[in-house]
Amino acid sequence: MRGTFLFLGTGASAGVPVIGCKCATCLSTSPKNKRFRPSGLISVGGTSLLIDIGPDFRSQALQFNVDSVDGLLLTHTHYDHIAGIDEVRVFNIRQKKELPCLLSKESFDELKTRYHYFFNKEGLSAKLDFQVLESDRGMVDFLGVKIGYCSFTQGGMLVTGFRVGDFAYISDIQKVDDSIFDSLKGVRTLVLSALKPEESHFHLSFDEAVGFSNRVGAKNTWLTHVGHFNDHDALNALLPSGVQVAYDGLQVEFLCEM
Ligand SMILES: [Zn+2]
Ligand SMILES: [Zn+2]
Repeated sequence: MRGTFLFLGTGASAGVPVIGCKCATCLSTSPKNKRFRPSGLISVGGTSLLIDIGPDFRSQALQFNVDSVDGLLLTHTHYDHIAGIDEVRVFNIRQKKELPCLLSKESFDELKTRYHYFFNKEGLSAKLDFQVLESDRGMVDFLGVKIGYCSFTQGGMLVTGFRVGDFAYISDIQKVDDSIFDSLKGVRTLVLSALKPEESHFHLSFDEAVGFSNRVGAKNTWLTHVGHFNDHDALNALLPSGVQVAYDGLQVEFLCEM
């Protein structure tokens, strides 16, 4: 079966343009230089799974016609990945149920502190039905979709990567442990975070991302979580064919079994 992944956001934690920044990228009028915070929508067999729900979620949903969502996958609980989570309320009201949410135990524990009001069942806030992953990597059935998952860290926080069929979404990876390549065997379409061409503290450089992609053996790798350091086309000119910077609104296809 064929699935699709729609990039709802491909920007770094501050988005692009950055507030108040007068650099050439931030002043550019090219749509490819406008990047919402990182997020995307997997669609497979009539099921829509949102990956992350950052502070731009409302604008993303309106721009890309995300009228309904069946489930939410959370990579981790940094602001740029979860700050739109209260917007789930709209789907609760329209779909008349809690939104299933798949996440690690570490993310769940953090959410319980930061979004304590979600756990007051009488309140008017967003309602989520949490499905907590039982280990660091494996495979689960989530809403009838087989989801592979793996774990890595960024700045001491545990981050979860997700896989459906030959598609994988690996964002906010800082240190690469060899074991991740077992989880990514056979991945053909890879979404991978890389902040900028140069090295940085919390993200892969472009060279590191290309090396990662080569080790996975992905046919197409799309970089996300990209900063304002250069223009979209100039960034792509630095990359080999098969590894390119994604842009908001790009949709890619993948293969999976149901
Ligand atoms: Zn991030
Ligand atoms: Zn800028």
